[in-house]
Amino acid sequence: MPFDLPQPGSYRDEALEHLRNLIRIDTGNPPGNELAAAQYVADTLAKEGLEPKVFESAPGRGNVWCRLKGNGTGRPVMLIAHLDTVPAQPEGWTHPPLEAAVADGCVWGRGALDMKNMAAMSLTSMLVLKRAGFAPTRDLLLCFTADEEAGGALGAGWMADNQPDLIRAEYALGEVGGFSIETPRRRVYPVMNAEKGVARLNVKARGEGGHGSMPVRDNAVSKLGIAAYRLSRLPLPPRVTPAAAGFIRTLARATGGVRGAAMRLMLVPALTDIIIDYLVRDPEQQRFLRAILHDTVSPTVVRAGEQVNVIPTEAAMQLDGRFLPGVKIEEFVEETADALGPLVTVEAAGYGPPIETPVDTPLFSAIERAISEYDPGAITAPYLLTGYTDAKHYARLGVKTYGFTPLRLPPGFPFARLFHAVDERIPVDGFCEGTGVLAKLCADFCGRHQNRAARTED
Ligand SMILES: [Zn+2]
Repeated sequence: MPFDLPQPGSYRDEALEHLRNLIRIDTGNPPGNELAAAQYVADTLAKEGLEPKVFESAPGRGNVWCRLKGNGTGRPVMLIAHLDTVPAQPEGWTHPPLEAAVADGCVWGRGALDMKNMAAMSLTSMLVLKRAGFAPTRDLLLCFTADEEAGGALGAGWMADNQPDLIRAEYALGEVGGFSIETPRRRVYPVMNAEKGVARLNVKARGEGGHGSMPVRDNAVSKLGIAAYRLSRLPLPPRVTPAAAGFIRTLARATGGVRGAAMRLMLVPALTDIIIDYLVRDPEQQRFLRAILHDTVSPTVVRAGEQVNVIPTEAAMQLDGRFLPGVKIEEFVEETADALGPLVTVEAAGYGPPIETPVDTPLFSAIERAISEYDPGAITAPYLLTGYTDAKHYARLGVKTYGFTPLRLPPGFPFARLFHAVDERIPVDGFCEGTGVLAKLCADFCGRHQNRAARTED
């Protein structure tokens, strides 16, 4: 019996309603209170005859999980989303952040892009597939969690620690990817396949103490200042990783011409910084490109002295460090020590390793096909995230995550600027079409073996 996936138009209103209902549930973190949202998702799934489970990791903090059972031919695919958002103060918004107003072709509200959109798309996909009688070959899982905006310890981290057997999927699809970028020749859809590692580095300078009225030459505060100044002048050396190279090569191909050729030179480490400075005008793009082609450190916290007339013997600062896939923490600390110079010491106080999922997988190929069917002529690119997501928690269990929340954006839409910002909003058409792309991808990828078997039986 061939499986007929309903047309996206038939579940457009349903997807929108779930998105708007989820936005109206305040899950600003802190305090989070994701339980209400998890319960909403669970009730919706249960009405369709599915058997969701809700886990309360701490009072009011909710995670929800569900399975559309496959026949075990392949390993599970999991749709992931975090249910919390950053808090929304209503000041400055065109439409109140928890109202989920539909205006000017967009749904407005906190979480519209980060990431109640993916939660609504995934929920709708599972409902539609279940209703249509889809019998997958691999389990299709859904796992929506709390606490991502604060690191995920009560959400994806908690699930990985306490319910590993439920979420040990082969692949997960989640946030930061699948949106469109316009280039002169074709649209590009980056799919996140790698995240930088994160490290908190403690830097210390020691010196001679004394009374402030009798200056010393060996002043700890001055030494720390010199080290911080060195960091601002000398970035850590460029490094080209497969994920960043894949992204830049794809953009270069989509751009074409002399500019495209020049972009490729960014991948020659001796030229990386020169090309970024001279080729890229937009300061935000410059920062992004530098961050995907370098390990980075940002001084963020400084401490020294208690009293203005006492010279302290110690001065300290913390650095927010981010290091690329393929780099070991020891290497990163050493490289940072070189950049800081001989007047200070540096050590890692805690870190999370980088992650990278290869792109030569059947799921990545299926994503490429899904995009070119949906938007003919457009291409997919690997994408390296400079921040981190819940993918890091799932990676501990060997889950390979791609950031793929399909969303075709109208040209000029200020996508990146709306994350965690006022007037966060999502284009209605892009969201509804994206839901269709996701549902079809799940049906194709989780039903593949079955369809092939059905064809040979014919
Ligand atoms: Zn997010």
